[in-house]
Amino acid sequence: MSDLLTAPASATPLLSTHALSVRYGGVSANADIDLTVDAGEIVGLIGPNGAGKTTFVDAVTGFTRAKGQVLLDGTRVDRSSPHKRRNAGMARTWQAGELFADLTVAQNLAVAVQRVGLRALFFDVVTGSKPPAGVVEQALDLVGLRDVADRRPDELTLGQQKLVGVARALVGGTRLVLLDEPAAGLDTHESRLFGTELRRIASTGIGILLIDHDMSLVLDVCDRLYVLDFGRVIASGSPAEIQDDPAVVAAYLGSAEVEADEEALAVVEESLGVEVRSPGVESPSVESPGVESPSAKSSGEESSGEEPHSDTTESTRYDTARDGSEPDSSGKAEQA
Ligand code: ATP
Repeated sequence: MSDLLTAPASATPLLSTHALSVRYGGVSANADIDLTVDAGEIVGLIGPNGAGKTTFVDAVTGFTRAKGQVLLDGTRVDRSSPHKRRNAGMARTWQAGELFADLTVAQNLAVAVQRVGLRALFFDVVTGSKPPAGVVEQALDLVGLRDVADRRPDELTLGQQKLVGVARALVGGTRLVLLDEPAAGLDTHESRLFGTELRRIASTGIGILLIDHDMSLVLDVCDRLYVLDFGRVIASGSPAEIQDDPAVVAAYLGSAEVEADEEALAVVEESLGVEVRSPGVESPSVESPGVESPSAKSSGEESSGEEPHSDTTESTRYDTARDGSEPDSSGKAEQA
């Protein structure tokens, strides 16, 4: 029998990138990244601060100039504008993706599907600027929050607010969603619930690319992981394979500048299956006043001046800074 007849019905990934590269001046923020996400799959993208994770999301969704190819369901979209990619079924969340405090949950979702341009303005005048019937409800169903549609964000738990942030990206037929630190600030229990919801969303056929520093969340929910360091993929595979990969351990732990307390270090050791601490050696410190964070954006983004992350209630957050400087604080206190 011909091989063609026995081949799987569709081998085309939902998302694939080929040699995706981004340069910011002398910095190679993404270098030749080949990555795939299938429908219904949760793929993690991890790496130390400044490794290029957010840049990758920016490049895939069209928010930064990139070389290489981005394909959605086998169709090239790398020449399309961000809103065309959004219309094609690709959506993202932002690290600082606060909800509108004065709007209800449903209204927060409705504004996410507002069209742009003159034709859209005309359409909005005619329709009263309402999204098509049912799309907001569908997205809320996907994250299990239909019954809080009329509440305001401050009436929700932090975990629910984070899920509203995800729902906002799911509105309007999203097939692929790229989540940039969606669980930042959640404690262990909330993070676990959040992970369960992500799995439920993926089970509907939506592909998810997940960036998070919460290693227990990522290792728990992801089918596969890619590890970035200095803009390059240094490892990829199942969570079990990644935990055993010496290059990954070196990228995270090589400089021993893990910003974490004893408890968090213990969880990291358990997650990665390596020993970070030696007896009698103090926890690594990240304090290094005056040193700029490697993830500070040269486009003018200033360090917040906040203390390095030290919230021990947060679950296994895993920020690293290669020069011992203050980790990127973005996403620390953010809302979804
Ligand atoms: P974090 O985990 O801290 O969010 P990250 O892995 O998402 O980090 P990026 O934010 O993608 O890393 O940054 C990758 C590199 O590109 C860093 O060296 C960063 O300083 C640089 N960079 C990112 N955005 C810009 C920009 N708009 N202009 C210039 N340089 C940038």
